[in-house]
Amino acid sequence: GVSEDATPRPAVRAPRGAARTAKSWGAEAAKRMLMNNLDPEVAEHPEDLVVYGGTGRAARSWEAYDAIVRTLDELEPDETLLVQSGKPVGVFRTHEWAPRVLIANSNLVGDWATWPEFRRLEHLGLTMYGQMTAGSWIYIGTQGILQGTYETFAAVARSLRERRGGRDDLAGTLTLTAGAGGMGGAQPLAVTMNGGAVLLVDVDASRLRRRVEHGYLDEVAPDLDAAVARASAAREAGEAMSVGVVGNAAQVFPELLRRHTAGAVHIDIVTDQTSAHDPLAYLPIGVSVNEWKDAAASDPEAFTARARASMAAHVAAMVGFQDAGAAVFDYGNSIRREAELGGCARAFAFPGFVPAYIRPLFAEGRGPFRWVALSGDPEDIAKTDRAVAELFPEDAALRRWLDKAGEKVHFEGLPARICWLGYQERHLAGLRFNEMVASGELAGPIVIGRDHLDAGSVASPYRETEAMADGSDAIADWPLLNALLNTASGATWVSIHHGGGVGIGRSIHAGQVTVADGTALAAEKLERVLTNDPGTGVMRHVDAGYERAREVARERGLTVPMMDA
Ligand code: NAD
Repeated sequence: GVSEDATPRPAVRAPRGAARTAKSWGAEAAKRMLMNNLDPEVAEHPEDLVVYGGTGRAARSWEAYDAIVRTLDELEPDETLLVQSGKPVGVFRTHEWAPRVLIANSNLVGDWATWPEFRRLEHLGLTMYGQMTAGSWIYIGTQGILQGTYETFAAVARSLRERRGGRDDLAGTLTLTAGAGGMGGAQPLAVTMNGGAVLLVDVDASRLRRRVEHGYLDEVAPDLDAAVARASAAREAGEAMSVGVVGNAAQVFPELLRRHTAGAVHIDIVTDQTSAHDPLAYLPIGVSVNEWKDAAASDPEAFTARARASMAAHVAAMVGFQDAGAAVFDYGNSIRREAELGGCARAFAFPGFVPAYIRPLFAEGRGPFRWVALSGDPEDIAKTDRAVAELFPEDAALRRWLDKAGEKVHFEGLPARICWLGYQERHLAGLRFNEMVASGELAGPIVIGRDHLDAGSVASPYRETEAMADGSDAIADWPLLNALLNTASGATWVSIHHGGGVGIGRSIHAGQVTVADGTALAAEKLERVLTNDPGTGVMRHVDAGYERAREVARERGLTVPMMDA
């Protein structure tokens, strides 16, 4: 499994600038992005190679990491490195259009796809958990999820518009959530960017402090009473403000439901982003943060049972909030299923966020487009921000996001940006960035990728493909076709993962990253990849019967052979 080096390793930090040691920008970019994933500014637990999301790793061991870095530096521009669950396993002669790296992480044959079997194999050193962008080297710190979370809360606000007399922001509402980790830590800022007040619960004080340091959380209250008083005052005043409190959500949520029912506090929106997808990464009631690691390792089955029982109490309170009229949704961490396994019969009473808020965007191929400046120069991101705003002048929400992100987002690791763009939009941005690299306007190449949580790249019945119109939730051919097509279209690295944000047995998903190095060849690749990749999202939603996807396919010229059959 994970190596236990005797001496602590120096912190990893990706090289910056326009000079490279690898033989192509493709290999150099993969190397820098692997390193960037493990930069202490970016990774949650870099010493264990854990980037985010429970145990999502960038490489299987430090030996494997060193071998990947060495191999990428030696890789010829017509060779491809294969990575099997974080370990470099082969180099093959391909061609210049082929990806420099092909990655498969955490995949198991169906009947073997359980957490105990996965952990057994991980313990033997045969696999690792890749999450979504950890093992595929395109995690960009908390900002990555900030945009998706901002979009989600903006959609929640729109869904409440009628109830709230036409207001389409969150001013005057209070959101309750838990989980201040790599992903969950984006929630308070996403809510305040939408104008709302938010109370964030985490068992680990250090996580809350880190979010305050990075400007994602305004303050941490000394106790629950103080947190409730502060959050309620902000709600009353229509103030955008976030407060954290240390506590176990399985206890704090039921307590707040009691206070809400008694009229002592009013909570409008409830969700959760603890690492519930992995029961060992969810702290049960009665276990302290200090005992956590040992308790989980010494008896994982017993720990799992306790975690699920606590999740049942946590989710029962969320259902209670829904019964009391709040807008409640699962934010993509499988907590409903884990709570159901823990004995909460009504766990699925509230929806997942994708069918509730995101699917209409997926039908247009819209999803989390992201890019990173390999120069390390924040000015490159400021320039690309302006270029994107100019490319889509009619998109007011995009403009608002870019303005707020430019002002509020603190870069972690290499400077990066994310915004949601759709089919026939993303390639325009990619080509523009490539021109800016070619002309010298930018100080170095730009890496362009996305989350695996995208329109056409994931099969995940508790999240992205929950409640598909045709019942095709668990069909996993789609992400495999997405990965194959991106490979055939010129992506720089392509990955196929299992598990991701919802856990072993529950999802199959794919990623792509393509480098804009300013060459004519890069432009050709970018045009194809950034058209085809979101195109698979439109295709997938056409096939499932979504009318908006059919319109988009017709309007924007996507060929789907049996669309009108
Ligand atoms: P993380 O492991 O970095 O952080 C999880 C946090 O939950 C930690 O701070 C931990 O202390 C806290 N926690 C655990 N048990 C708790 C409890 N009982 N009460 C209160 N706090 C508790 O994970 P992350 O990267 O922030 O991801 C969180 C979850 O969101 C994961 O399940 C992940 O797979 C999922 N996820 C969702 C999306 C999405 O788009 N919605 C995207 C990525 C990941």
